[in-house]
Amino acid sequence: MVEVVVVALGSNLGDRAQHLAAARAALAGLPGTRVLQVSTMEETAPLGGLDQPAYLNQVAQVETELEPRSLLEACQAIERAEGRTRGARWASRSLDIDIIQFGRRHVDEPGLTIPHPELPNRDFWQRGLAEVQTP
Ligand code: ADP
Ligand code: MG
Repeated sequence: MVEVVVVALGSNLGDRAQHLAAARAALAGLPGTRVLQVSTMEETAPLGGLDQPAYLNQVAQVETELEPRSLLEACQAIERAEGRTRGARWASRSLDIDIIQFGRRHVDEPGLTIPHPELPNRDFWQRGLAEVQTP
């Protein structure tokens, strides 16, 4: 089944725009997947008042035949390909890909919660979502 999925891209290390571009290209290359729309990029301060470089953020609307868990694993592989190392939670990262929405599905499993529980707290995700959402 094909679902319309919204993912959030974020980077605060290295060539941030290049990491986001690589993420868009890699998502488009996943099996049964295409990128339908992307939001404008938005720079944000690190959450939680951390002493870190600013983030560049973007939201992408994607159509995929992958199941949620397979998409999560694919996103984590793309993060690794862009040089992400797993540091502490909230640590600086060359690329973060979070699944915000997966059609109208609700997922609540170990390591995967959809819709993403941070959506209500992140106005830059909400702005990106509004840009890519077809009414
Ligand atoms: P952050 O919370 O800053 O995005 P990570 O990218 O390291 O931190 O993600 C931590 C964990 O969040 C991942 O190992 C993943 O299993 C889990 N996770 C739960 N729900 C989601 C989701 N909707 N999208 C992406 N990751 C998720
Ligand atoms: Mg993440």
